[in-house]
Amino acid sequence: MNIHEYQAKSILKEYGVKVPAGYVADTPEEAVEVAKKLNKETGTKFWVVKAQIHAGGRGKGGGVKVAKSIEDVKSLSNDIIGMQLITPQTGAEGKKVLKVMVQEDVYYPGESEIKEYYMSVLLNRATGKNMIMYSTEGGMDIEEVAEKTPELIFQEEIDPSVGIQGFQARRVAFNLGTSGKAFKEMVKFVVSLYNAYVGTDSEMFEINPVFKTSDDQVMAVDAKVSLDESALYRHKDIAAMRDVTEEDPTEVEASAAGLNYVKLDGNVGCMVNGAGLAMATMDMIKLSGGDPANFLDVGGGANATTVEAGFRIILKDPNVKAILINVFGGIVRCDRVANGVVEAYKNIGDIKIPIIVRLQGTNAEEGAKIIDESGLKVTSAITLKEAAEKVKIALA
Ligand code: GDP
Ligand code: MN
Repeated sequence: MNIHEYQAKSILKEYGVKVPAGYVADTPEEAVEVAKKLNKETGTKFWVVKAQIHAGGRGKGGGVKVAKSIEDVKSLSNDIIGMQLITPQTGAEGKKVLKVMVQEDVYYPGESEIKEYYMSVLLNRATGKNMIMYSTEGGMDIEEVAEKTPELIFQEEIDPSVGIQGFQARRVAFNLGTSGKAFKEMVKFVVSLYNAYVGTDSEMFEINPVFKTSDDQVMAVDAKVSLDESALYRHKDIAAMRDVTEEDPTEVEASAAGLNYVKLDGNVGCMVNGAGLAMATMDMIKLSGGDPANFLDVGGGANATTVEAGFRIILKDPNVKAILINVFGGIVRCDRVANGVVEAYKNIGDIKIPIIVRLQGTNAEEGAKIIDESGLKVTSAITLKEAAEKVKIALA
């Protein structure tokens, strides 16, 4: 699960990572109030107005602007709130901006002594350790740095059972070329950032840029955080940060129905119990000459309710020319699944595309009989091969 920059920064602050002072606003009027409040708190006379969307590269798309007066804050927030922001990470259609973060401008004054770095914490799956990736080349496209000057990207591997050690944080601060007060600040930054990553069970914390102010403070000017959804039950406060307006609406509906659904681009919808069987089914659709329109794992309970929710979600996709249901009846018996399919079909009513139901396992024959005698536009199959052939015919 991804969260917004302003939410990520509230987490960072809790862990002792310095961030510029700032607040979120839904309207230009609110943005002005926030700017005035920041002026009182920090004395800042310049502000940064930042679009809050779940995608990076906002600066490039015009979603991050410096305001040099209160009037600027108002007009810039007015421009940004409601805009369709296109960045290298949003795709061509962009994302609608609903909120901005107004922040004190930390780049002013003393441009000569400021510096931007890159730092992220993530899991290195090859070594089974956590890894801090960092570079002196912050503020810009890190993928480009990695491609053109890979020698400027460093890595520090951290054994998760031991945690980050002082010498490791000092090595990072040293490699980044800091000294004096900035060195001490950087060491503290690295340790706190690592602790935030571990403490929230995150998949990734990416800070680009990490910023050194003209008076040698080190802070997170930007923050991109990806959380492990399987660990959210341990973090109710973070789970509440979920913003469904940023997610694919069909995937949100599926997750509310307890279905594991991922939209794809093909023409054969599929509904399967178990992730492994779902993968095999997608391969089989390919073999039959079609392309999977989705991944959908209904899990252990393939009953009428889940099947109906699955049908409705698949049918939203105009590319779908046929639906294949592939269920292995173990604990859930095939006759019950078949009844579920028939009931769901009748509840939805007029389904225009052919449906192939392959039931195998406990009571498979009874299941096939229920499907065949239902009088609906549903075909049964018992073997995978038979199902593949029927998909082929349905697409012809
Ligand atoms: P991103 O484009 O989505 O990665 O958003 P960032 O938060 O990284 O902001 C983009 C760029 O805006 C940064 O690389 C900075 O150069 C600039 N920026 C961010 N905060 C400030 C600030 O406080 N003052 C000034 N002058 N520039 C800032
Ligand atoms: Mn950034």
